[in-house]
Amino acid sequence: MQYDAPAHSPAAQIRLGENRLSRVPATFSPRAARLTGMLFPWLWVPFGLLLVLAAPRTVFPANDSFYHVQEINPHVFVWVAEDILNQEGDPQFNRAGNAGFIITQDGVVVVNTTNSPFNARALLYEIRKRTDQPVRYVINTSASPDVMLGNEAFADFSPVILSTPQAAEQMRNYRNEFPARLDRDWKFAASMRGIHPLPPTQTFDKDTTLDLGGQQIKLINLGDNNSPGDAAVYLPQSKVVFLGNVFENDYIPRIGSANLKQWIETLQKVVSWNCTVYVPGHGLPSGPVQVQRFQQFLEWLSGQVRLGIQKGKSLRQIQNELVPFQSVHWHAPELEGEAVTAVYRLLTRQDNQASSSAETPSP
Ligand SMILES: [Zn+2]
Repeated sequence: MQYDAPAHSPAAQIRLGENRLSRVPATFSPRAARLTGMLFPWLWVPFGLLLVLAAPRTVFPANDSFYHVQEINPHVFVWVAEDILNQEGDPQFNRAGNAGFIITQDGVVVVNTTNSPFNARALLYEIRKRTDQPVRYVINTSASPDVMLGNEAFADFSPVILSTPQAAEQMRNYRNEFPARLDRDWKFAASMRGIHPLPPTQTFDKDTTLDLGGQQIKLINLGDNNSPGDAAVYLPQSKVVFLGNVFENDYIPRIGSANLKQWIETLQKVVSWNCTVYVPGHGLPSGPVQVQRFQQFLEWLSGQVRLGIQKGKSLRQIQNELVPFQSVHWHAPELEGEAVTAVYRLLTRQDNQASSSAETPSP
């Protein structure tokens, strides 16, 4: 295990944001709305229509219906996020990722912390309903804001926060770029108000086993898949594995700067692991069949885009032909176009690299 010596305690920098029960957007002004309505009554028609369209996805929870908790094995829990777009947090990652927690006699291990400290407090509340044990470890399976922006909700426990070195570096970069982004992007500033990214305190490069209260927790560096330095959290006794954003169940993935080839190979590998439950980044915990189905989706998508490129089609043409996807009807369909773009960029970049290296004579 590698130790990143923190220059100062990260916990000391954290001022926890106020508890926001109401999720009315910060920019909403009742007075302005009243005036607008009086001056332009016809504005209410499209405005009302917008509210109706937005209603099923916007979060005004009367209760805890924005998530549910499953005990998938004794003392092993998954906090499953519903398909809801949050107004707090990084606007690019407004769907909470799933989280998990493992309760042992010597403390609690948290796997991922969702996309905001507000959702992470709901997670903490569920832990507190079940145990008084302190949270000893927080593990981030990647640097994606939808699985790590809730880290600060656990700062009071001063837990060891763990990720791979690659993910830790991305999280530190994200935090370092934070002040500049707040200055130049008011939308980002409004939705990130009261949120402070808290990067890992330690990293694991090689596979590592935590042994806490008789529960073995294996941390596995999967390399570059959905993002650089993705990790799996594997519980050999329970036959459960948390895969973070490497596996999505019934959700269109956010592909970004993935390594598609390795991602597909990793999914092939994890299917052969001796697991009964695979916990995805989004969607319900499942068996190996759903992991395979997701792998086949990635193969299908990259195959279709590659075919389009080979036929000399533009990105726009490929998108028009593929989107909306006919073969899958998953959550987050608005990410389909983005997924095609990401795969197109990855494949054309690979082609360029391949042709330029072919032209370069070897010494
Ligand atoms: Zn995600």
